[in-house]
Amino acid sequence: MVAMRGVQKHFGSLHVLQDIELEVARGEVVVVIGPSGSGKSTLCRTINRLETIDAGSIEIDGRPLPEEGKALADLRADVGMVFQSFNLFAHKTIRENVTLGPIRVRKASKADADRRADELLERVGIQAQADKYPAQLSGGQQQRVAIARALAMDPKVMLFDEPTSALDPEMIKEVLDVMVDLAKGGMTMIVVTHEMGFARTAADRVLFMADGRIVEQNTPDQFFTNPESDRAKDFLGKIL
Ligand code: ADP
Ligand code: MG
Repeated sequence: MVAMRGVQKHFGSLHVLQDIELEVARGEVVVVIGPSGSGKSTLCRTINRLETIDAGSIEIDGRPLPEEGKALADLRADVGMVFQSFNLFAHKTIRENVTLGPIRVRKASKADADRRADELLERVGIQAQADKYPAQLSGGQQQRVAIARALAMDPKVMLFDEPTSALDPEMIKEVLDVMVDLAKGGMTMIVVTHEMGFARTAADRVLFMADGRIVEQNTPDQFFTNPESDRAKDFLGKIL
């Protein structure tokens, strides 16, 4: 579903992505971990072309990332993204937040978009809040709305960049539960997170990044019990 080959990215003199080779199969769940500044967010952002790359190639479902225009808008609709900050539209209701993309980009009718939004809000446990505004919801609820909003576009792959890092501890589980559900439902997912419980429960593969490189990757079981590189051992020693 996602193929990155020989991807290089610089920010000025900083070589932030170095020779990235990554294939993610349909339905696969890949968790990305690594120290702050190692390039995890940049990796995600290149996949929906919020960042350009300097060399190499990226394909989504066998098609190269478009440069611009409608093709790029379509690509972005195929790649759902959920960030640390929820980025909901403050002046729109929860339901409107979810229907906006399908109506504008997918050209859905308002009735269809509303119906689908209510289904998705039900699925993430927020249906009762559909007519409220984001500020009336807790952080955990807002992040679940952000997930529903991304799903409303029927994405082929979902990217999560530290989706629970900005949440109060008691709200982390409600968001992770939705993500575990999504993983079990067969969604292709790339998830930057340091939530090891999630990685162990839902990930097919853990990918460890340091200094812009994929240093090692393995099943969660193998990676957490028997990391190979000193960088990974050192990192796990600090967070576990
Ligand atoms: P991570 O998500 O692993 O913490 P990032 O991908 O956010 O890492 O950042 C990797 C490196 O690239 C960091 O050193 C960061 O300061 C730098 N960086 C990220 N975005 C930009 C940017 N737009 N311009 C310049 N440097 C950037
Ligand atoms: Mg980051």
